[in-house]
Amino acid sequence: MKVMKFGGTSVGSIESLLNLKNIVNAEQRPVVVVVSAMGGFTNQLLAMCEQAQQRDISCLDTLEAARKRHHDAVDGVVIEPMRQQVHDTIDRFIDESLKPYYLALATNPHMPVDEIERVCDAIVAHGEILSSAIVAGMFEDGTPHLSLNYMRTRPDAGGRVLDWDETARLVKADFADLGDGVHVVQGFISRDKESGAVTNLGRGGSDYTAAILASLLDAEALEIWTDVDGFMTADPRTHPDATVIPQMTYEQAQAMCDAGAKVIYPPTIAPVAMKRIPVWVKNTFNPSAPGTVIVNS
Ligand code: ADP
Ligand code: ASP
Ligand code: MG
Repeated sequence: MKVMKFGGTSVGSIESLLNLKNIVNAEQRPVVVVVSAMGGFTNQLLAMCEQAQQRDISCLDTLEAARKRHHDAVDGVVIEPMRQQVHDTIDRFIDESLKPYYLALATNPHMPVDEIERVCDAIVAHGEILSSAIVAGMFEDGTPHLSLNYMRTRPDAGGRVLDWDETARLVKADFADLGDGVHVVQGFISRDKESGAVTNLGRGGSDYTAAILASLLDAEALEIWTDVDGFMTADPRTHPDATVIPQMTYEQAQAMCDAGAKVIYPPTIAPVAMKRIPVWVKNTFNPSAPGTVIVNS
């Protein structure tokens, strides 16, 4: 079984979602598909939090534009029998969850700082919740999972870390009987082990979600599907002469990620390296390109 992670640009448009569908449909079942929020939406959700705190309710206009973007994607990619249900899911999360959160931020000037943080963490989780509803609705055999049910964090040194033991226990229960389907999972999002509050694994954290699942489910491979042809010698946006590295060791990949290669979130490497699970970096927009494989030697 493979774990395949698709980043923001890979789920960000009808064109890329249709590519994702072809890529996943070429795979044997069962398969686990981890998705990010639609490209740019996480930044928008957070910018809207800032606006709401300034009592600038034009953030609700941005929310309406995002609603339309998600509905358009549903019309473009979701299979007919699932379409209405996914439209309804999007409206429900926007009207019954996101809007009330933004209004609470905008109308409560005395909200304590830790409460503001809690609300913004709950808000930012909606990016992956909405994109995963669309992706699960693209497949006849799509099976939605909810990362909030099994990814657990705990406070650590002023931030938070994954609680491996609790996450392992819950993941093994949730994925006990994989059957044959396309199992669609939200990247990035989690809950605090003690309080149950919605948390996340940090910006770019969907790669880490995928690596955690690959490790706990003993996947045969982890595939990171993104918008470049592989792990490159440098960021091609700033170094147009960068070239794809066909093969790397876990240590080489870790060193480049630690030095800022944004293509993989740094905590991603350790869980798969420990189990010697090969990691492929591939391009959703050019799937026939060979990509990069990260292995032990
Ligand atoms: P995703 O949304 O798929 O997770 P990211 O934007 O997080 O994608 O990561 C992909 C981007 O990482 C590429 O578009 C590229 O600009 C950037 N990048 C930085 N360093 C590298 C590198 N060494 N190799 C490939 N891409 C890199
Ligand atoms: N959507 C989250 C972010 O933009 C997580 C991810 O894309 O990996 O940071
Ligand atoms: Mg990323």
